[in-house]
Amino acid sequence: MNPTPKKNARVRDLGEFGLIRELRSVIGPPRGSVVVGIGDDCAVLRGDDPDKYLLYTCDPVVEGVHYRRSDQPRQVGWKAMARNLSDIAAMGGVPRWAVVSIGLRRDTRARWVKELYAGLRAAARKFGCQIVGGDTTQVKHEQFVVVTLIGEVERSRMTSRSGAKVGDSILVTGKLGGSRRGKHLTFTPRINEARWLVGNFPVHAMIDLSDGLSSDLQRLVEASRPGIGFEIHAAEIPIARAARGSLAAALHDGEDFELLFTIDPRHVTALRKQWARTFTLELTEIGRVVRSREQVTIIGADGSRKPLAPAGYDHFATS
Ligand code: ADP
Ligand code: MG
Repeated sequence: MNPTPKKNARVRDLGEFGLIRELRSVIGPPRGSVVVGIGDDCAVLRGDDPDKYLLYTCDPVVEGVHYRRSDQPRQVGWKAMARNLSDIAAMGGVPRWAVVSIGLRRDTRARWVKELYAGLRAAARKFGCQIVGGDTTQVKHEQFVVVTLIGEVERSRMTSRSGAKVGDSILVTGKLGGSRRGKHLTFTPRINEARWLVGNFPVHAMIDLSDGLSSDLQRLVEASRPGIGFEIHAAEIPIARAARGSLAAALHDGEDFELLFTIDPRHVTALRKQWARTFTLELTEIGRVVRSREQVTIIGADGSRKPLAPAGYDHFATS
C-alpha cells in the first residue's frame, strides 16, 4: 500500500485498500438518501419506510480466483449468494431481493448453469431472499458470477463498521482459518446469528470476516473514530480444525465469513449465556477496544505486544 501513489501506479502497487481509497475520492462523499456509502459491508439507503433502511451490496465470484473450474456448480452458486448474504448479516439486516450477472464461455453446458442456479436459489431461499433478475454475457476466458443483493434493516438495529467504543469487548463467532480446504464453498452466512444479536444486544460495530481476521480488524479500526485501537490476545483466537493448529492461518487465511463485533463488556456475560442456549456455534471474546494511536495490537501468551499487520487476502497482492 502506498499513501501517495505515483501517477502511473499499477493496481498491484496500490493494493485493494489503496485502490478503493482512490475510487472513493473520484466518486465523492455520499449525498441525499445515502446514509452510509463506500466503506462498509453494504451501502445504507433511506427508502420509503421511515422505520427501515435499505442495504445494498454486490460481490463477485470469479473462476480461478474464488473457485476452481472443477468445483461443483451448485457449490459455486451457493458461495456466490452466501458471500453477499454475509454482508447483509454484517449490517444486522434481512436479505430480500437479488439479481445475478453471469459470464459464460460458449461451450459451457446448460446443465452446469442450471446447477449453479440451484445453488444460488438454495442459499437465497434459506434466508428468505428471492432472485428477481440478472444479466448474461459471453466471456472468452474465466467465467464469473456477480450477485447484487438488497436487504432491509430496522433503523434502530442497523450496525455499521464504525461504532466501536473505547472499552468494548471484541467477539468473534465460529472458528477461523483453513477455509480454502473446503468451507469456502459451503459456509453458512451468519444471518440468523446477526439478527439475534442486533435484536437482543446493543452491538456497537460489526463486520463479516471475508479477507482474514488481521485485514478485517484493520478495516474496523479504519472505520472507527480516530484514537481508537484494537488489542487482541493470540491465545484467545479460535482456530478451526482445517487450520491445523496454525495461528497464522486463523489470522490471515480469509473466507471465514464469521461475524466480528464489539459490545460493551457489561453485556458479555449475559450475551454468552443466552447465546449458548440459542446456538451451538462458538462465540469467543478475543480482545478489547482501547484508546491508542497504534492500530491493531496482538498480545502473545507471554505478554509480548506486536502490531498486527493486515496480511489477509488482497486481490492485487496475489497473482
Ligand atoms: P466486503 O469485503 O464487505 O465486500 P470490502 O471491504 O471489500 O467489502 O469493500 C470496502 C468498501 O469498498 C465497500 O463499502 C464497497 O462497497 C467498496 N468498494 C469496493 N470495491 C468498489 C468499487 N470497485 N467501486 C466502488 N466501491 C467499491
Ligand atoms: Mg463484508
